[in-house]
Amino acid sequence: MDPTRIPGDPSATSFVRRLLQLALCAACALGATGALAWSRHALATGPALAALPEFAGLPAVKVESLASFLAAEGASLEQVLADEERWAREHVPTYPPRPDALRFTAAGASDAAELRRRFVAALRIAPDLPLALFLQRDPGATASDGRPPLAEREVTTLPRDASIEASRFVALREGEPVRPIEVATTASDEPDYGLDLGLWEDNGTPQGRIYGFGKQPFGNPALDFGTQAPLHMGFYHEARIIYAAAGFLKRTYPEYRIHLWRTLARHALATGHDYWGWRFAGWAMHYVQDLTQPYHARVLPDVSTVRMLWINGLYMAGWPSAREHAVTLVSNRHLALENFERTALEAGHRDRRVVPAWFDALAGAGVAADPEWSDDSPRRVVSLRAADAADALDRTLAATLPAHYVDDPSFDFGASEHGIDLFASLARDDAGARDALVRAIAPRMADFGAYTRAVARSLLAARR
Ligand SMILES: [Zn+2]
Repeated sequence: MDPTRIPGDPSATSFVRRLLQLALCAACALGATGALAWSRHALATGPALAALPEFAGLPAVKVESLASFLAAEGASLEQVLADEERWAREHVPTYPPRPDALRFTAAGASDAAELRRRFVAALRIAPDLPLALFLQRDPGATASDGRPPLAEREVTTLPRDASIEASRFVALREGEPVRPIEVATTASDEPDYGLDLGLWEDNGTPQGRIYGFGKQPFGNPALDFGTQAPLHMGFYHEARIIYAAAGFLKRTYPEYRIHLWRTLARHALATGHDYWGWRFAGWAMHYVQDLTQPYHARVLPDVSTVRMLWINGLYMAGWPSAREHAVTLVSNRHLALENFERTALEAGHRDRRVVPAWFDALAGAGVAADPEWSDDSPRRVVSLRAADAADALDRTLAATLPAHYVDDPSFDFGASEHGIDLFASLARDDAGARDALVRAIAPRMADFGAYTRAVARSLLAARR
């Protein structure tokens, strides 16, 4: 028997499918204005990695351009990427195979630009991302190294948003020394700078037409930022009826990205290209960190399948508002969580006394040992822990944040977010609610820290 088929009423299946499609369109529509992920990963990656002395204490490495890395390792990368593709085809469920025409070959590339073009195509990333040499400044640090500022457009293809505006970038020069912790911390933000945009066949981009990912599984393919969602979310732990009704939910691929970047990191480290080793490592960390966000691991937290069917039944009977309300509330809570997280971390970097519980959690305080990394970790552990925490966190958000933001279906958080600082406003108006929310999110920060270090530790032994 086909395990994806539900016996019984086929109309129930279509109810759920329609509801989920609507919900996910809304969830991805919010990507047009919101960050749709933990915002500013680097703010949390830095404190997480600082708590791993064998990594944080590594000596400085030499900055190397992508062109130099490819010139030195192009030939060896052919086999590495061929093996990686074989792994993905064997291990990632519903994996869209990389077309054979995009197989990486270094031989015969006429120049550095052509070599880069082939590499970018084999990785199936957005070809317009600059991949410049840069660092993101810690917002609390005063710069004294004389590194020149770098414009946003040199590192990201995204239009300005609240998190990018708040970030400060500086340029690195090829050959200068830089600490691995700075490289990985900066790189942990980079997958949100446009790396995964416009990759699907229906995105209207040249790369989307040749990358072989198929049609965008959910969300609006015309909305720029939302197009990355299926690579940064992992819906691995929904009820069976949900997958049966909405098979497109099986097409989320952070696992594939994490494995690819870890493989490249290991190879770069093993061949003495530590700068690229730790930059790829930071990319891998990003997707792992995304999976610790409950709204990235569950489609509609705290909305039961039965309730979805009920709401949808009302919709079918001519009362659409319950369905629209449910979708708007989930979107608003998702964005409110990320606003609170970002503004709290920004405040915490200016003054560690503001959210000490989070910095302790990120550093693994009170935990005997970090988890070991394995290829199964993203699906079996990281996203499961976030999915399990989703319902309770959703309820805490509703109970602690002003009702206007989390319980008012006529309010659109994404459209109104500019200038909202939930951490500051809650600290001012309701310190008890702020503390409750800080406590509720702390275990997510602990997972963020623990699995970020697990990735770093898993790569330390790869160094030449
Ligand atoms: Zn992301």
